[in-house]
Amino acid sequence: MAVKCRVLKGGYCEITQYYGGSNNHLGIDIVGKNYTIDTVLAHTEGTVIYTQTGQSNNQGSTGNASYGNFVKINHGSGWFTLYAHLDRVNVKVGDKVTKGQVIGYMGNTGNSYGAHLHFEVYKNNARTNPLNYLDADLLSSTLKPVTRDENKDQLKVNVNDLRIRTGPSTTSSIIELATENSIYNYYETKSSEGYTWYRIDDNKWLANKDNWCTIYPKTQPIDNEEKLKEEIKNLQSKIKQLEEENEQLKNNNISDYKIFVAPESSLYYMELEENQQLFYKKN
Ligand SMILES: [Zn+2]
Repeated sequence: MAVKCRVLKGGYCEITQYYGGSNNHLGIDIVGKNYTIDTVLAHTEGTVIYTQTGQSNNQGSTGNASYGNFVKINHGSGWFTLYAHLDRVNVKVGDKVTKGQVIGYMGNTGNSYGAHLHFEVYKNNARTNPLNYLDADLLSSTLKPVTRDENKDQLKVNVNDLRIRTGPSTTSSIIELATENSIYNYYETKSSEGYTWYRIDDNKWLANKDNWCTIYPKTQPIDNEEKLKEEIKNLQSKIKQLEEENEQLKNNNISDYKIFVAPESSLYYMELEENQQLFYKKN
């Protein structure tokens, strides 16, 4: 089944081998629609940083030789694309290319068993599955993860390449991908489509389903809570002390005193017969 593909002139491709798998395939192998040979286009604008030319078919080869004739383009921010087994290369190192520019023609050079394009995508300078990018922009990571902070509502992403979208819905556009173990502050939550969504920035939302994220709601810092408990304890012991003092005065010379609770209910008001007054603050 042909899928949309912007690195081939025909706009569609058949996938003949996927990324990964038991032989740790580091790219994706494609041919043109209906298994045809097609012209190869630059995925995104960038600068050609590597080319290899003059290669023939070399089955069983390893390293750069296995790529045959190939082109590698730097797109910035850790993004690169690589196009291997080309028959012809139309660009040279240092060339600035635009999205959709012809860079070569599909071939059977290097470690290849039939004409096809071996296409690689590098994200953060490491290979990633090109399947996500056959018909999609390379995403720029502008939202910086933060560190764990108990004073903030935060979440940790548990899966790789979780999509960050412009709104709380799977129909919203993908703008970035979040990598595993990254931590973001969140400001708002919403439920829809069986997902709970977290707003992590202006118009940037992450969905949580099946433990895609671990949620850390903010907590009161521990030392503040301890201080509050201590203060309450101190007040309680002061009240107890005052009550005991009152009891002592009563016992010592009970007939000499009248004890009132003053109009200000927080005061113990004591009056001697000679109209001398004593006040005890209750708290
Ligand atoms: Zn391949």
